[in-house]
Amino acid sequence: MGLTLQAIPCRTDNYAYLIQDIESGRVAVIDVPDAEPVRAALSAAGQGLSDILITHHHDDHIAGVEVLREEYGAKVWGAAADAHRLPRLDHALRGGDTVAIGKNTATVIDVTGHTLGHIAFHFADAKLAFTADSLMILGCGRLFEGTPAQMWDSLCKLMALPDDTLICSGHDYTRANAAFALSVDPDNAALRARIEQIEKDRDVGAPMAIAPLTLEKATNPFLLAGDAYFKRRCGFDAQPDISVFATLRARKDRF
Ligand code: ZN
Ligand code: FE
Repeated sequence: MGLTLQAIPCRTDNYAYLIQDIESGRVAVIDVPDAEPVRAALSAAGQGLSDILITHHHDDHIAGVEVLREEYGAKVWGAAADAHRLPRLDHALRGGDTVAIGKNTATVIDVTGHTLGHIAFHFADAKLAFTADSLMILGCGRLFEGTPAQMWDSLCKLMALPDDTLICSGHDYTRANAAFALSVDPDNAALRARIEQIEKDRDVGAPMAIAPLTLEKATNPFLLAGDAYFKRRCGFDAQPDISVFATLRARKDRF
């Protein structure tokens, strides 16, 4: 408990996330697409930076890491499996490891699929999961390195988190994802209602890369690939979950 969250827009559609453990005052950032917007947010709040948590090796998630490490003396945490292509790690992580930011502890979840070695951070007490390019709002990351089976397995791990977990993803691809979701699942009333709400939220400038897991489970077609009623209404009768997922992912690539 006692964790604040700030979403920081970077580049055209990326997000960095700042979290602060209220009791200790320790501040960590999850992914650094650019140093400058993160630095600006820290100085506006008069904060230092103790830790940098990296989800995966893509440049749009790590480009600002070295600058912030130098400037703040922050410790860098990332996947051991990706150590050869990440900035130098102070702490190399495997699935099941924990990261403590003051009294708040995150469990590391291996969410291979978008890349091999992609990890997510789940802060159970604060009910936050930083999923970057694995589970995204109404979508999931493209499979650059992993197989559909690996990504499906990763999404199943995320679906097993408590329903009131807030998913904080790496990009705002929400509008494009919504259009695809609607093309697959036009009779999903919850999806239609959600898309209306998203457009309203966008008008008031709310961060577009964050949503409760429960809403994702009801409306994200990639999470619904294991749902019997979804399969029936979308023409996937009797297909195994994993082939439904693989078909959807391939269709989205061409959408
Ligand atoms: Zn990526
Ligand atoms: Fe990315």
